[in-house]
Amino acid sequence: MKKASSSKNNIIKNSSSIRGASILSRVLNKGINSVKFFFDKLVYLTKKAPYFQDITDDIKNAVKKSGILNGIAFIFSLHTTCSIKINEYEPLLLEDIGRFLKKLAPVDDYYKHNDFSIRTVNMCEDECKNGHAHCQQTLMGTSELVPIKDGNLVLGTWQRVLLIELDRARERKILVEVMGV
Ligand code: ZN
Repeated sequence: MKKASSSKNNIIKNSSSIRGASILSRVLNKGINSVKFFFDKLVYLTKKAPYFQDITDDIKNAVKKSGILNGIAFIFSLHTTCSIKINEYEPLLLEDIGRFLKKLAPVDDYYKHNDFSIRTVNMCEDECKNGHAHCQQTLMGTSELVPIKDGNLVLGTWQRVLLIELDRARERKILVEVMGV
């Protein structure tokens, strides 16, 4: 009896979610021409690793340039050893995060990626030993999404968009895509 009722609930849930998807798809199709997409590429020169740069104001500027009032800002690092992360820009906390990353993937640990006697893939002429930076980047991630309401980024009191350099002083490219109406 119990089993039958739960199976019935599942069917109701499924059919209503299909109905919802079909309504959503009709709305999206109708409004697709009014949704705008805006791209901006930001370039930074980092100074060391770990290195934290607050890029929130540059993201706000991209949103302003886009003219989009309501939607989402997508901030994407075009690198495998440089992260985008939302967190608090407080100097002592940034030192703590640096220590936390070093503990999990220390620079002086052994990484096969750094062992040029065995590595053959993606080798450049000036290949550097940065296995720790790749491992740290897998923890920190590549992108963040921030809601936009009435032309402003919706962020909590202490939330800032941070570029996090994990390798060494380098040029870094960050893509900002603003989507909305
Ligand atoms: Zn590498």
